[in-house]
Amino acid sequence: MEIQKGRVVGMHYTLRNEEGEIIDTSEGREPLMFLQGFGNIIPGLESELEGKQLGDALDVVVEPENGYGVRHEQLIQKVPREAFQVDELQVGMQFQAQTEQGPVPIRVVEIEGQEVTIDGNHELAGVRLHFSVSIESVRDASEEELAHGHVH
Ligand code: ZN
Repeated sequence: MEIQKGRVVGMHYTLRNEEGEIIDTSEGREPLMFLQGFGNIIPGLESELEGKQLGDALDVVVEPENGYGVRHEQLIQKVPREAFQVDELQVGMQFQAQTEQGPVPIRVVEIEGQEVTIDGNHELAGVRLHFSVSIESVRDASEEELAHGHVH
């Protein structure tokens, strides 16, 4: 059975960055299940999987524009240490920033004295993604899954 819109796909994947370091993998876990054609996974991967078959294995390179987006420098800002109501602030900590567009996840990327640099970009923004995937299962989605737009 081939992958097309409205089918549920089980896939094993390993995601590497440009340097070949593993960012994420399903190895040792259950395959990732998603509903094809509903934006459950990043668009650059979803489009490459269309038409592939059960048992196929492939490598897919996804550009940032079709992955987690490009980096926006204006999402990197310096804010005073007092803006954080935590005792121990560390690089890598994540917070929700309240903005006019609603809550936005931010990460602390640098702390210099009382000055803290935060980054509102997705961690994988600007990163070219290298996926190795194998298709483990393909089935038709139920009506309920189609109505909800995700796998049950
Ligand atoms: Zn549901």
